Amino acid sequence: MITVTNLTVAYDELVAVADVSLRVPPGCVLAVSGPSGAGKSSLLWAIAGAVAARSGTVEVDGLTITDRPGAAAHRVVLIPQGNGLARVLTARENLSMPLLADRALIGVLNRRRGGSGDEPEYEREDERSHALDTVDRTIAKALADVGLEDSGDHLVEELSGGEQQRVAVARGIAQHGRVILADESTSELDSTNRERVLNLLRREADRGAAVIIATHDPNVAAGADGHATMDEGHLTWERRL
Ligand code: ADP
Ligand code: ADP
Repeated sequence: MITVTNLTVAYDELVAVADVSLRVPPGCVLAVSGPSGAGKSSLLWAIAGAVAARSGTVEVDGLTITDRPGAAAHRVVLIPQGNGLARVLTARENLSMPLLADRALIGVLNRRRGGSGDEPEYEREDERSHALDTVDRTIAKALADVGLEDSGDHLVEELSGGEQQRVAVARGIAQHGRVILADESTSELDSTNRERVLNLLRREADRGAAVIIATHDPNVAAGADGHATMDEGHLTWERRL
């Protein structure tokens, strides 16, 4: 569940998001459309904790993240506009990074919760190979979901724009976020792959995620559960959730 209350984001004097409130329950997909510069990316960045709010709050599953950006990082997955991939790494390596970071964090938390930190060597080795197997399987599944099962070892810079966009989507869905924010994630796709990506985002909602898609595409907006438009930072409901 995403709850945004009276959120304002500003860059110096420029108000990019103006007093926006919205709620996306688990299982729902909200499309946000509007002209370039309307504030769609800024809204998503604020929900992901990547830009600070000037005022207002963002809650994810009841946890306020506006004043503690790190707190919800692992629950909120942003698929950024322009894909955000590391170009000189392979598709698989790009997918592995957030998953390994997550594993490392879980390891630290487990140790803090009372693990001694000096488990026998073989237990750690077991744990390590189990964790890496899980990451490998998750990556293989996500790449297959976007139709790139054979491209895992390709450098991102060797892939076409549309393929890169699908890698970015695969990286997003592999993280099993509570919230998924897709910023123009279908802009470079042909209709088959656009359908594929939209179906995957729908599947993420069906397993309980709250999904927001920023899009210029009226077809994408039509397929969402709710639709809002933004203009000069202001949000207007076209179809309420
Ligand atoms: P779109 O409308 O396709 O979302 P924009 O042209 O509004 O794209 O923004 C594209 C990128 O350029 C964004 O990631 C944003 O950070 C950056 N950007 C846009 N305007 C500015 C600006 N005035 N100063 C710095 N960066 C900007
Ligand atoms: P959209 O995603 O709808 O294109 P953005 O959130 O990218 O909108 O941009 C909203 C406004 O904020 C635009 O006027 C843009 O130029 C400005 N902007 C975006 N990013 C930055 C930034 N990093 N620094 C300054 N201004 C920015």
